[in-house]
Amino acid sequence: RATIFAVRSSHFSTAAEPSSSSTPPRVPNLIGGAFVNSQSSASIDVINPATQQVVSQVPLTTNEEFKAAVSSAKKAFQSWRHTPVTTRQRVMFKLQELIRRDIDKLALNITTEQGKTLKDAHGDVFRGLEVVEHACGTATLQMGEYVSNVSNGIDTYSIREPLGVCAGICPFNFPAMIPLWMFPIAVACGNTFILKPSEKDPGASVLLAELAMEAGLPDGVLNIVHGTNDIVNAICDDDDIRAVSFVGSNTAGMHIYSRASAKGKRVQSNMGAKNHGIVMPDASPDATLSALVAAGFGAAGQRCMALSTVVFVGGSKSWENKLVEYGKSLKVSSGTEPDADLGPVISKQAKERICNLIQSGVESGAKLLLDGRDIVVPGYEHGNFIGPTILSNVTADMECYKEEIFGPVLLCLEADSLEEAISIVNRNRYGNGASIFTTSGVAARKFQTEIEAGQVGINVPIPVPLPFFSFTGSKASFAGDLNFYGKAGVNFFTQIKTVTQQWKSLPGSNVVNLAMPTS
Ligand code: NAD
Repeated sequence: RATIFAVRSSHFSTAAEPSSSSTPPRVPNLIGGAFVNSQSSASIDVINPATQQVVSQVPLTTNEEFKAAVSSAKKAFQSWRHTPVTTRQRVMFKLQELIRRDIDKLALNITTEQGKTLKDAHGDVFRGLEVVEHACGTATLQMGEYVSNVSNGIDTYSIREPLGVCAGICPFNFPAMIPLWMFPIAVACGNTFILKPSEKDPGASVLLAELAMEAGLPDGVLNIVHGTNDIVNAICDDDDIRAVSFVGSNTAGMHIYSRASAKGKRVQSNMGAKNHGIVMPDASPDATLSALVAAGFGAAGQRCMALSTVVFVGGSKSWENKLVEYGKSLKVSSGTEPDADLGPVISKQAKERICNLIQSGVESGAKLLLDGRDIVVPGYEHGNFIGPTILSNVTADMECYKEEIFGPVLLCLEADSLEEAISIVNRNRYGNGASIFTTSGVAARKFQTEIEAGQVGINVPIPVPLPFFSFTGSKASFAGDLNFYGKAGVNFFTQIKTVTQQWKSLPGSNVVNLAMPTS
């Protein structure tokens, strides 16, 4: 443990503060219970998006180190799978307590590496914490089924057993919540885990792993390997890894889905989105406007459930005027500033891409009602900031509509009827979430029935289900069969064994019956 804390302090004491030494600390891997520095000479800078300060360096883990992580997970599985479920739950009970204890530290790390406001970073941790709380009930969640006397004196029951070594590959936008969607459920079910955090903000994963170790997770049950495409491909190809959880873009997600499935692994792949809100003329004005602003610009639009597209039924003008007023009133600054409403986007490249998509919208006929591209934030002149941006008169053939923008940009479309609005949403290739704003139950019910999206909001802008349900993106937003967390999450990380037992006094007989047994 001495080594663990030595490596930990060299990394985390500097995560939120400018480094006193000239070389930024290296983010450690976690292999077999020890936080160890990678021997790799290649690394990537983790950059504070509000300041461009290099916070740390994330190594491109070597193949030998990756193999060592898998081998330690494989070894740990032999005892962890037989550890009583009550003991595994107790680790989760302790972990949730420790996450609460360290929530400020986790949030500060997230704001430093990812850019979102401190308040939003607390939310990032909290929504992950709820999954840990849910994993405290694994004994009930993992229960099998039993049918007595399926035939004379014969009972059948099913057991949900862990799979073995599982892996998780994470995106940058929720550095705490998404790792917590993955490893708590996996390990509480008796699996061991290899976590590959986003190379853009790996700090929260390492802090969470420290807490998991402190909570009593045995060595080797949770391992962390850093890197990018090579390590991801190694995860997909490895014969000892049984299942892969992925959250991120469609390019990476479909690649991982095909490559890992081709090796016979289970894969759950949560991908990109273009979430629509339909606003009916009877929608409650203030509540709807607040919801659109919060869900469109919150986290600088870098949420997979951001409401990035609004379809106004029966005229948009008065709604748009108000949206512009609201948008202008938001404060864009470093996430560490207490009054910041939205922080920077993750990288210079992301900013450039978002600005290009805004420009392409303008060039193809959209009206730029609010332009946040040239914003300068006093004190943070080098940050990747984009202010709230609103484009109206957007049509479905525009590039800015077809692509996921993943920035603080709200697109406004118009429709003459609810039918037309629903058909616009349904023609979009993504199906993560969609919401309606209305005071009509009839309209809401029609929307709920006809909309092709996995997560539906009725007067709720970001309908992310709590962990007793599952995160149910559909169409191009999800590949796989079993969704993240909830019952589906437990099913993903377990396989069913069905036992048929016979306990009765068997009459002595030498008659052999070769026909298929029937009751
Ligand atoms: P990303 O796909 O660029 O990266 C995600 C992970 O995949 C990272 O760990 C990265 O190292 C790895 N990766 C990236 N490209 C790869 C490649 N070619 N081969 C192998 N591995 C690769 O995604 P991101 O930019 O970090 O995250 C933003 C995306 O994630 C958005 O599209 C957003 O909608 C999506 N997202 C979806 C959900 C959801 O639940 N549906 C949740 C959060 C984010």
